[in-house]
Amino acid sequence: MKLLFVGAGMSGAVAGRQLAEAGHEVHIIDRRDHVGGNCHTERDGDTGVMVHVYGPHIFHTDDEGVWDYVNRFATFMPYKNRVKTTSQGAVYSLPVNLHTINQFYGKTMRPAEARAFLEEQADTSITDPQTFEDQALRFVGPDLYAAFFKGYTEKQWGCSPTDLPASILKRLPVRFNYDDNYFFHRFQGMPEHGYTALVEQMLDHPGITVQLGTDYTPGMADAYDHVFYAGPLDGYFDYKLGRLGYRTLDFEKFTEDGDYQGCAVMNYGDRDVPYTRITEHKHFSPWESHEGSVCYREFSRAAEPDDIPYYPIRMVDEKALLADYVALAEQAQGVTFVGRLGTYRYLDMDVTIREALDVADAFLAAQTEGRAM
Ligand code: FAD
Repeated sequence: MKLLFVGAGMSGAVAGRQLAEAGHEVHIIDRRDHVGGNCHTERDGDTGVMVHVYGPHIFHTDDEGVWDYVNRFATFMPYKNRVKTTSQGAVYSLPVNLHTINQFYGKTMRPAEARAFLEEQADTSITDPQTFEDQALRFVGPDLYAAFFKGYTEKQWGCSPTDLPASILKRLPVRFNYDDNYFFHRFQGMPEHGYTALVEQMLDHPGITVQLGTDYTPGMADAYDHVFYAGPLDGYFDYKLGRLGYRTLDFEKFTEDGDYQGCAVMNYGDRDVPYTRITEHKHFSPWESHEGSVCYREFSRAAEPDDIPYYPIRMVDEKALLADYVALAEQAQGVTFVGRLGTYRYLDMDVTIREALDVADAFLAAQTEGRAM
């Protein structure tokens, strides 16, 4: 069959690869001039540093099948994400852990002591937390909330934590040990030559053609048996019900000699610092050596129609609109919506890849059983 994929990010590359391997003719378009979607990496021309162009990406997963899959296409170098935050005039370790708590309160508590101490700080009058703020106050009390959660969250989401649902802080966001590995997952790493090289390897198959700098237009579908669409769901329907809300990011790039901040990611918890974090890209490739350094100051704001959509907002209004678009999508024939934009969800790369593998399997099963998709 002739299959069109809109979007050469992880979703399109993985599903496209699977279906090309199954013998289908796969054509992938992307409006950008590179493959890799938002995971795109490229070397900075002046310093040679591998830059995560659309923001920092760390691969982490508990899904061994996904880990094996990505390792088919790239060598993964060991990498653990250790995030720091500057807050109230000091630098702390994140996620909030025993080191953070002891440093913040000037104490030397052991795990059980710190747990008991934080329970004393917590606002136990909040029995059924509804908002992000309630949840944080219930878990960690006002001091840690103000230093590590409040300002950062206001900048990231552009609203008060009292307007965000408690579900954003699902679990106790604190560790009572000195583990500062940001992710819990068993498998973590960085592709040696960046994510774009990984995606290029996925796309390197005789059954796949790629056309960059090409926007999807509805008429294109006529030449294909099926379309896999990884672009924005509302965009597919020409925004006829309205626009789904996104946060976008602005990156202010600057270069330095040597080492600017000594770590890959430094958050800024204070509200009066306008950016949320600074990323120093060379620390994502600790096996490389570069004299110069490339950094991004990251600012978050509501996306305008021409901005890159980064984070789906998924508040009450968006969820209602999303349900209407999902109803339209379910009626649409000959198209499957995939990926973070096609399904309007924040998806880590490993989840994106798992879903793309499943979508390809479902398509093949439908073909075998003679079902339309
Ligand atoms: P995308 O990467 O967005 O690809 C979609 C592609 O479709 C784009 O290239 C776009 O140009 C193209 N397109 C859209 N519309 C059209 C159209 N009409 N015509 C033609 N082309 C079109 N995940 C992790 O696992 N670890 C991390 O550390 C991590 N960090 C992240 C940091 C940030 C700031 C963000 C926003 C995400 C992060 N993610 C991370 C998530 C990761 O970016 C996604 O899992 C991944 O990009 C999803 O791939 P995708 O193919 O679904 O979407």
